[in-house]
Amino acid sequence: MNIPQSSFPRVVIIGGGFGGIALAKKLSKKEMQVILLDKHNYHNFQPLLYQVSTGGLEPDSIAYPIRKVLQGYPNFFFRLAKVIGIDTKKRWVKTNIGEIKFDYLIVATGSETNFFGNENIETKGMAMKSIPQSLNLRSLILENFEQALLTDDLHERDALMSFVIVGGGPTGVELAGALAEIKKGILPKDYPDLDTRRAQINLVQSGDRILPAMSEVASRKAEQFLEKLGVNVWKDLRVLDYDGNMVTTNTDTVFESATLVWAAGVSAVSIKGLDAKELLGRGNRLKVNDFHQVDGFENIFAIGDVAQMETKAFPNGHPMMAQPAIQQGRNLGDNLVRLVEGKPMKPFVYKDKGSMATIGRNKAVVDLPRFRFQGVFAWFVWMFVHLYFLIGFRNRVVVFINWVYNYIRFDREARLIIRPYKKQNQGLKNQLKKGS
Ligand SMILES: Cc1cc2nc3c(=O)[nH]c(=O)nc-3n(C[C@H](O)[C@H](O)[C@H](O)COP(=O)(O)OP(=O)(O)OC[C@H]3O[C@@H](n4cnc5c(N)ncnc54)[C@H](O)[C@@H]3O)c2cc1C
Repeated sequence: MNIPQSSFPRVVIIGGGFGGIALAKKLSKKEMQVILLDKHNYHNFQPLLYQVSTGGLEPDSIAYPIRKVLQGYPNFFFRLAKVIGIDTKKRWVKTNIGEIKFDYLIVATGSETNFFGNENIETKGMAMKSIPQSLNLRSLILENFEQALLTDDLHERDALMSFVIVGGGPTGVELAGALAEIKKGILPKDYPDLDTRRAQINLVQSGDRILPAMSEVASRKAEQFLEKLGVNVWKDLRVLDYDGNMVTTNTDTVFESATLVWAAGVSAVSIKGLDAKELLGRGNRLKVNDFHQVDGFENIFAIGDVAQMETKAFPNGHPMMAQPAIQQGRNLGDNLVRLVEGKPMKPFVYKDKGSMATIGRNKAVVDLPRFRFQGVFAWFVWMFVHLYFLIGFRNRVVVFINWVYNYIRFDREARLIIRPYKKQNQGLKNQLKKGS
């Protein structure tokens, strides 16, 4: 990897997400050689992926070059590398560009979409965990409308204009709200020759309320907002299968839709060599102690989505959200310095700053530790918080201008098919014909 030898201890961080970046920043001025490995050369601000999928933002505005985050620090090195294995005994990390030895290793690989073994949904449905996936979804949505224009078959047209979003967490709720706004504000103007009122947006949640991790009042209000926007909210309904057109559920309810978005679960990204059964907890997360050390190791740590730190307040680990990852990265940064200096490490204590979700313009729900509010003010708070945590001044300016423009003009101008998406349901027409 062409990284010079150093007299400083070598810290290798796998993953430049929220956790990895927070940690690297903490260590950047310390007497340590910090090597950050990521399979992408950018940090991805996942909370705004749904806006890329729905043409509200360009992908570049939610991505930030990892090299720029830590420019100018002589002991910091970034390598664009996919980690494929870890030798915990010999202290080597194996990647597609070579191997690197570590004194301290931090796994911050985040999580990936969990399809729970359903291959049909995995191959025919859409996920929204990365920028390329969001661009695929954006293309597919637009391609389906272009195709809907071309068919005389009303049945097929309806399926092309319908969406099934599986999972009533923040991702599903935010995506459903954004699609409803497109249906109302943009589709009738872009496709005057299509009856876009027939487009159906279905949000399917297996539990008895959407946003289950938030307060009941937030769930109730979010559902009201969605219904006001025309979204069909289905609760206590479990999607079982998808053949590229027909969505089957655990009841008699079926949907015909050319677009199924799976936002119903994630599991941690584990790495060979550190994936023994006894090391993993729920959702493949690495079990760690209060100091982020992976069970059985003193020099291997895990933070963020990939880490499961069981505490009294969080018996199943902290929520898989940006704040725990950032706070864990910062705490581990301090602890590594203390460790090197021979001082005792400090246990991690999560400061819950609350959670929020936006449903559409002037519509959001916010649960803070002491206050809960919904509506216009919540929407402004949501925007402010997202702008604040977005990395990079340019990105903040671009996103802010886009939001103001979209708000004033009721528009989303990034509705572009830059790289066409080929869906694996070429037989849609035939299937529809068979089914009708
Ligand atoms: C659509 C969506 C919306 C969300 N909305 C919110 C929200 O509103 N609020 C909130 O708090 N959280 C939200 N989250 C969750 C939040 O984004 C995650 O909890 C957070 O990103 C976790 O941070 P992390 O550092 O653990 O992992 P990540 O930020 O996922 O970073 C992991 C990094 O590891 C890299 N990596 C993975 N495997 C390898 C490998 N083998 N080799 C090299 N590099 C690798 C990846 O490229 C990535 O850069 C959302 C997530 C999604 C998908």
